[in-house]
Amino acid sequence: MSVSLVVVTTVLGAIVGLLTPRVTWRLSVEYGEPPRSACENCNHKSDSWVRVRVACPGCGRRLGPRPWLTTAAGALTLGALGWAFGPDPVLPGYLAVGAIGVLLAFVDLAVLRLPDPLVAAAAVLGGGVLLLVSLLDWSFAPLLRALLGAAVLFGVYLVIALIPGANLGFGDVKLSAVLGLMLGWLGWPALVFGLLAPHLLNGPVALFLLFTGKAGRGTDLPLGPALLAGALVAVVVARHGLPLFG
Ligand SMILES: [Zn+2]
Repeated sequence: MSVSLVVVTTVLGAIVGLLTPRVTWRLSVEYGEPPRSACENCNHKSDSWVRVRVACPGCGRRLGPRPWLTTAAGALTLGALGWAFGPDPVLPGYLAVGAIGVLLAFVDLAVLRLPDPLVAAAAVLGGGVLLLVSLLDWSFAPLLRALLGAAVLFGVYLVIALIPGANLGFGDVKLSAVLGLMLGWLGWPALVFGLLAPHLLNGPVALFLLFTGKAGRGTDLPLGPALLAGALVAVVVARHGLPLFG
């Protein structure tokens, strides 16, 4: 295990997390609307994407999610990926998907949306690195499995999304294809684990919210954060060879 690499990716994740509230706030709009550029409270204009301070200069209200939460999520996500992969040439692809994933999770929590441009960026950056590594190694079996993984998760979630009353949007379907790509590269057990883990994670959270009265039966819970967290757990488990994965 490469300790210095874990430190580097954790710090990188913390920086991503520090910058996440501003971008999350700007992207937390309804479908088809332009990015937010004015405070909802005092209408103070604020159209920078890169900003660490979250308080509105006009009224002091916090714009976007809590910075400690996004920083912890970023550090944990990229740190875990650095720990899972070590100095593997595919690490940059997973870090890119992880960083975008942190942002996607907070946008989904805010407005129950997974913006297409972010999901597409994750697909291009993650898939691009996998393609590059395949070309450099001139070995295409993992890439083929990654593409099949993307197709499988896309298919499974598409079927679920088409079931009437399913609490699952097409944003989730598209995201699951990207996660299927990244998990498929690691092997079929990782893919299966990544398919099941989100529901193992989301079930207890939903029950907790129901019992604490924070959510009712009709409340829409975002699935994106669970899909992303489940994929992260699947990656770590797959790379660290629990008994299940031999
Ligand atoms: Zn304000």
